[in-house]
Amino acid sequence: MCVVEMGTPVNIIIGSHVWAEDPAVAWIDGQVSKINGEEVEIQTSDGKKVVASLSKIYPKDLEAPAGGVDDMTKLSYLHEPGVLQNLATRYKLNEIYTYTGSILIAINPFQRLPHLYDGHMMEQYKGAPFGELSPHVFAIADVAYRAMINEGKSNSILVSGESGAGKTETTKMLMRYLAYLGGRKATEGRTVEQQVLESNPVLEAFGNAKTVRNNNSSRFGKFVEIQFDKHGRISGAAIRTYLLERSRVCQVSDPERNYHCFYLLCAAPPEEIEKYKLANPKSFHYLNQSNCYELVGVNDAHEYLATRRAMDIVGVSEKEQDAIFRVVAAILHLGNVEFAKGKEIDSSVLKDDQSKFHLQMTAELLMCDLLALEDALLKRVMVTPEEVIKRSLDPVGATVSRDGLAKTLYSRLFDWLVDKINVSIGQDPNSKSLIGVLDIYGFESFKTNSFEQFCINFTNEKLQQHFNQHVFKMEQEEYTKEEIDWSYIEFVDNQDVLDLIEKKPGGIVALLDEACMFPKSTHETFSQKLYQTFKAHKRFIKPKLSRTDFTIAHYAGEVLYQSDQFLDKNKDYVVPEHQDLLSASKCTFVAGLFPPLQEETTKSSSKSSKFSSIGSRFKLQLQQLMETLNSTEPHYIRCVKPNNLLKPAVFENVNVMQQLRCGGVLEAIRISCAGYPTRKTFFEFLNRFGLLAPEVLEGNYDEKVACKKILEKLELIGSQIGKTKIFLRAGKMAELDARRALK
Ligand code: ATP
Ligand code: MG
Repeated sequence: MCVVEMGTPVNIIIGSHVWAEDPAVAWIDGQVSKINGEEVEIQTSDGKKVVASLSKIYPKDLEAPAGGVDDMTKLSYLHEPGVLQNLATRYKLNEIYTYTGSILIAINPFQRLPHLYDGHMMEQYKGAPFGELSPHVFAIADVAYRAMINEGKSNSILVSGESGAGKTETTKMLMRYLAYLGGRKATEGRTVEQQVLESNPVLEAFGNAKTVRNNNSSRFGKFVEIQFDKHGRISGAAIRTYLLERSRVCQVSDPERNYHCFYLLCAAPPEEIEKYKLANPKSFHYLNQSNCYELVGVNDAHEYLATRRAMDIVGVSEKEQDAIFRVVAAILHLGNVEFAKGKEIDSSVLKDDQSKFHLQMTAELLMCDLLALEDALLKRVMVTPEEVIKRSLDPVGATVSRDGLAKTLYSRLFDWLVDKINVSIGQDPNSKSLIGVLDIYGFESFKTNSFEQFCINFTNEKLQQHFNQHVFKMEQEEYTKEEIDWSYIEFVDNQDVLDLIEKKPGGIVALLDEACMFPKSTHETFSQKLYQTFKAHKRFIKPKLSRTDFTIAHYAGEVLYQSDQFLDKNKDYVVPEHQDLLSASKCTFVAGLFPPLQEETTKSSSKSSKFSSIGSRFKLQLQQLMETLNSTEPHYIRCVKPNNLLKPAVFENVNVMQQLRCGGVLEAIRISCAGYPTRKTFFEFLNRFGLLAPEVLEGNYDEKVACKKILEKLELIGSQIGKTKIFLRAGKMAELDARRALK
């Protein structure tokens, strides 16, 4: 039986074993040595004496199983310290997975545990009833697959957690297991499921990078939709990606790295190095801003070949692969083009012969005109009503132009790859059901937070609301609808933060677009507008000492944003000179990355929609994602990073606790335990348990009264009668079934 004890100390006496708050380890256990009214003195197990208030201590379960429990809802005493101790105990035994009801908590082991994911394991989980085997990602994938087959409904698995928590690894396991369930016997050629799996290394080579938080950090969000035919076989797939971090292409801070593909290419076989005039990564500006070049345990030369092989499988032809790496090489050379002041005021020239060499290499690799490239970097065309003038850029302006070109090239290359993979895998137009797997960046709060963090945290607010709606609102609404007595558990609804960000008109995204469209705006005027508009908003705070920063009180905590780059980063704008230059490339691949503008403008019907911003487009993408998710049956996996050292066997309590709070795990636990998880309509109930009281069935009562009479006869504790259904506490169904079996 599960006792909800959040905030309610029970029967604490001298000698009681309790948990008390501790700044270093979150919760420390000990024994009560003195009670003085509301104040309790505790002798802790690490030999200290602490004083705590009675309402802030919790009883410790001395009979808790030594190895922990595999589902938190089985804990006899359910409270924060109990949850934490359970996870820590299991983690020590390499039990990295634990359920809380139907949610899976996965704690990153930071070490390979191959037996956990081998073929034998997959076999075991196939079709096994949920909860019968140890908690596992395979069990979640299996439930989703069975639900899809049995009910013909789409399912989704949402994997969340902070950077380095293990989302991508978890997603890969899920995909492998689904490919195992829905795959065909090996036939000749590439199978759809093989292609789906091999899309991962390709996207990782181009979209992942080493950061301080994770050596293989995904710098984009991903939703993979796996389609199944009516026999439950994988018949197609679609990959959608979100917001690749563009700035990393030109700006890397120590000890991070740029995207993996740059280093892989520098470690390519000698013919390629010669062909692309490459050299040690240390000689390229886009890589040498950081002192980190190599990753422990990763051989870039091997990875280069492996990436090429994966590209073969997903259907990128050799010719296309050559073009892709040619563009990657061109970006490296472009980054080495430097500028010096020119003779005229505010103009610039190439700095030296080295810069000339790299510019020439860039032009060769991109197969575009050398002079046109130089012009596109050094000058801007200004169109006024009277005339068209060419204006020179100063060295700073030319550098910005160069980096802009590099970022645009790279992000278009990435989008091309995603499109190509989608076309090559193919979509099944007849597919009735799908399983979606979401691997998207977790909540971020750094020392400085810019537009990227704003978008990432916006995503997390959306997903948190989805989680809230699913776990909390649906439960509560069901109880309310059925008018059953239930003490409401409070949870923080985040609709107000979402309004602040996305409301149209008047939300931050809309105000940012307005600022971007108005030529005289600066980040100062934008910030002033925010301060004015959201003066009284509970979730918006203007910091006292700043004129341009702003704070949003997110569900997971406050984040201070620096607005200075918001306008630039929101503008989805390719300089026409760059566009013209590359759409004229003699390489069809490069030209294809820059389709002529006319095509794009004819697509949009009205003039005003010509302005496209990253923020609004992202908002739309998120909306579509939420619509897809809302049409599926969701399953949640919460990944947890046990330490910031990225090391095995280190479990940092405070750190873990914070992540459980942010992910709503604690609230979800309270709900599933405090509520009535089993529901049956009166009809179903009578059908199943009528034989426990045959006299009631004969009595000609209406269904509801009949059910009531049966419950009275059985003296069942832990049930409630609603308007159309009977609600039972966890475990009650099994109890009734057992009684029925005796009949
Ligand atoms: P980001 O948001 O930065 O992309 P992430 O949550 O996707 O982070 P992963 O890249 O999945 O994190 O995991 C980080 C690292 O942790 C992996 O490279 C791997 O070394 C280790 N790891 C994660 N999950 C597992 C696992 N189940 N078994 C073994 N190692 C793991
Ligand atoms: Mg990842």
